[in-house]
Parts: sequence; structure tokens; C-alpha cells
Amino acid sequence: MTDQQVAPAAARPLRRARAKPVRRRAKPDPVRHWVRALDRKRPALVGDTLAAMREMYGARVWQRRHDPTSELILTILSQNSADVNAEHAFELLRWRYPRQPREEASGGPLKEAPRAADGRHSKPPPGWGGRTGIGTAEAPDWAKVEFAPLDELVDAIRPGGLAPQKAPRIQASLRALRELRGDYSLEFLGDMAALEARAWLTAVPGIGRKTASVVLLFCFGTPLMPVDRHVERVSKRIGILPPKAIPDLAHELYLALLEPDQMYEAHVNLITHGRETCHAQRPDHERCAIVTRCRYVNPKAP
Ligand code: SF4
Repeated sequence: MTDQQVAPAAARPLRRARAKPVRRRAKPDPVRHWVRALDRKRPALVGDTLAAMREMYGARVWQRRHDPTSELILTILSQNSADVNAEHAFELLRWRYPRQPREEASGGPLKEAPRAADGRHSKPPPGWGGRTGIGTAEAPDWAKVEFAPLDELVDAIRPGGLAPQKAPRIQASLRALRELRGDYSLEFLGDMAALEARAWLTAVPGIGRKTASVVLLFCFGTPLMPVDRHVERVSKRIGILPPKAIPDLAHELYLALLEPDQMYEAHVNLITHGRETCHAQRPDHERCAIVTRCRYVNPKAP
């Protein structure tokens, strides 16, 4: 083939059009996006809400309630149950799986858990979510709880509600703690940074962000904001959280919206508000100190 002759198309090397680099837009960070938008469109909303809650329910000073393992199990017991029932179930765990033989602990043999005059298991006074908590008596023997026959444990915590789901969750958590650490103590979490400690706990089967945050906030004062159903409902009604925020996002949003030293009081007062005033049904707007900024009452509230 001479220089003038043109090579047949099949023999010519293919010249590819150079592909334009595809510019991918970075996905907006939903946390940053929301925090900025809230700041711009509804300035001081978080601060005003916290001030209103303090006006209604007072200032809160952090205080440890229980050892972290008890707090963990109590929080599992309170999932989708009233706190007063969870506390009752915890007391029954103490009774059924004591650290000392029961005769020694109670001064005499008992055949079954104490019952009230009407034949029902007596309830301890209402506590956290009730009023006074589970008291300061010794924690149950966690090894006995972990190795108890499942149906026996289900029976032991039945008055707390959802026992068939919670009993295996409790045993799985205790098993994971023992296998990972050699015992059931969680005191070491107090020496870890907040997110590191939360990540350690949420790696344990059955422990989510809310449960981990409760344990860390209440046992060590770790600056984390547990978002339970009351906090979520109140926050979405006021407009602090987006209406469709899923629980994991709600936790991250609150970490960005609050200062570390605001988290304990914010959590406790928002829960109290959800329980006492901003009920799921018929919220009592009249006595609410944040009513002028609440989007549930006025969709155009500032
Ligand atoms: S104004 Fe009503 S809906 Fe809004 S936070 Fe208060 S009680 Fe809840």
C-alpha cells in the first residue's frame, strides 16, 4: 500500500473520543446542612427550647444512678416498655438471681417473688420514668442471668413486657461482654472518648445508639444525647429535628446542635416534657413555655 492509499476502516486504529471527566457532586452532609439551615431560618431555637425546659422543670445536675452494667440491662428492659415496668422487671432479676444465696440476703427462705395483697407481684415505687429508680441494692448476679435457662429468664422478667424478645437480648449482651472483656464490668468505658466508647458498645449485639448513649451519659457524664421516643417527638414537634429524621441521624444532629455540657439537662428535661406535657395524644400546649416557637402549634412559628 502506497502512502496515498488509505487503509481500510477495519485496519485503522480506533481513535477514541476522550471521555470528559465526570464531576460527581459530593453528597451534602445532612447534619451540617440541617444545623446551618436551622441557624439561618430559626435562630436561637435550641437555646430558647432549653431555656423554656429549664423554666418548666428546673436545672439538672448530673449524678450517677447505677453501675453501667445495671444501666445497660435496665435500658434494654425499658425498650418499648414503660420505665416503671422495666424497673419492676429489674427488681425481679435481683430477686431471682441474687449475688448471695437468698436465705442469707433476705433473712429467710422465699419460695417466690414478693406479691401484693391482690396477688400480683408487688411493684417497687415508680422510678426513673417512674420516680425513684431501682434503688441502690446490689446488682443481680450477671453470670446467673447469662446462663439461666431462657424460659426461666423470660418468666422472671415477664412483668416488664416483651420478655421473649428482651431475655435473649440481655443474655446476648452479657455473653458478648464476658467474651470481649472476661467479666461483666463496663467501668473501663469511662476512660474512653465519647464516640469511641459509643462505638465499642454499639458493636455489641442488641445495643444501639440510644442504649449506648444512655449508659455513657448516665454512668460517666459522657457528652452524648440519647434520643428516645419522648425526645424525638418533642424535638420534631418544635422543629429542632427534621420531621423525617431517622433515629441514627437524630443522634448525630443533637451532637452537632448542643454543647457537651448541655446534653444531660437537655435529655432529662426533654424527656420530662414529653412525659408530663407534650404527650403523644393531647399535648398540653397551654402550660408549655416554648409554645410561641412550636411548629406543631403554628407551622410558621419563628
Ligand atoms: S407547644 Fe404543644 S406540641 Fe409544642 S412542644 Fe409544647 S406541648 Fe409540645
